[in-house]
Amino acid sequence: MLTNAPKGTKDTLPANIYKWHYVESKFAEICKKFGFNEIRTPIFEHTELFTRGVGDTTDIVQKEMYTFKDLGDRSITLKPEGTSPSARAFIEHKQYAEIQPTKYYYVTPCFRYEKPQSGRLRQFHQFGIEIFGTGNMMADSEVICLANDFLQEMGIDNIELRINSVGCPTCRKKHREALKQFLEPKYDALCDTCKVRYDKNPMRILDCKSPVCQELVQGAPLMIDYLCDDCKESFEQLKQNLDSMGISYVIDPKIVRGLDYYTKTAFEFVTSSIGAQGTVCGGGRYDHLIEEIGGPPIPGVGFGLGIERLLMLMEANNSEIPTPEPIKAFIVFIGEEAKFFSQKLLRDLRKAGIKAEMDIHARNVKGQFKYADRLGAEYTIVIGENEISEGSVSMKEMATSTQKKVKIDDLILELK
Ligand SMILES: [Zn+2]
Ligand SMILES: [Zn+2]
Repeated sequence: MLTNAPKGTKDTLPANIYKWHYVESKFAEICKKFGFNEIRTPIFEHTELFTRGVGDTTDIVQKEMYTFKDLGDRSITLKPEGTSPSARAFIEHKQYAEIQPTKYYYVTPCFRYEKPQSGRLRQFHQFGIEIFGTGNMMADSEVICLANDFLQEMGIDNIELRINSVGCPTCRKKHREALKQFLEPKYDALCDTCKVRYDKNPMRILDCKSPVCQELVQGAPLMIDYLCDDCKESFEQLKQNLDSMGISYVIDPKIVRGLDYYTKTAFEFVTSSIGAQGTVCGGGRYDHLIEEIGGPPIPGVGFGLGIERLLMLMEANNSEIPTPEPIKAFIVFIGEEAKFFSQKLLRDLRKAGIKAEMDIHARNVKGQFKYADRLGAEYTIVIGENEISEGSVSMKEMATSTQKKVKIDDLILELK
């Protein structure tokens, strides 16, 4: 027990970390290119941020949050998603007083108490971006474009962009009534969660994972048919923007997203290559979130992208991830005097930017060579008393076993 990580968590071992470093650096790179800057917010927040922000009719808030009382009797929640904390920081630091829009990206662990059989992790990791401060659909298309281009760069094909509009409070009211009318005769058959949703937010019933509810909502009125003029116009704008950028999409009126705060644009990037749970990236517009959690009325739009899922997809697509740079030079030392000399030399090589190693377990010469081989070193450099007095060493290329004499003073140049 003590030596097992908690259920739903996972270690990433050094042998695999290069994959994480790769996607993290590529994500940071594309975000910066698009003018997004990184924001880092705490791992935990006041619980109320999520009950207000994410919405208390969502699965996340009702069943999945890691919430606890701290020693000061405050209710604390480990962040289940990245948008509400970013919005909270945006308000707290009065970023709205700066020139708008504000563009953030983040890389963060998120925590949700998922059922073990779902195959999902309870600590998972997300990339995300947010644009605060504009209701213009150019922001929505920019967000979608960044996700699209990033996924493409990560070598993922057979992926489909699906877009929808979930409307605004004005037009949602009409849809809500139509939906309630449609569901009224089926009310008793709904799951307990959806019975609550029926009153609070019936649109979320469309998104219920229960197969019974799934069946009941067949043929239900769709939001897209109830859009007000403003929402309709926005959706047209979005489509035109995507068309002009050459980004293909399909309209999927079933997308409602799992969070309450979405308005207008909702989108998902869906793939067929990792089974039924095919959404790798999802996002949309949330024009009332900032107001909802206590800020001024400022609109926003963004996405979240699961890193574990991304890596799985990249594997399924045989995407190329550059393996770590090998050790350039391994110093084999013979004797005590050579050990001290080698330690200094090792330091010089590293300072010169060369990836270099020696055996800090101090095995015998044969053992050191074996170790160098296991580490995959490109060159070994043997140093004994003779080499030190001569001022030159033999440098052996491990792959070809070819050797040559090199002056110690020239070693750095030679290795570079
Ligand atoms: Zn509307
Ligand atoms: Zn249900």
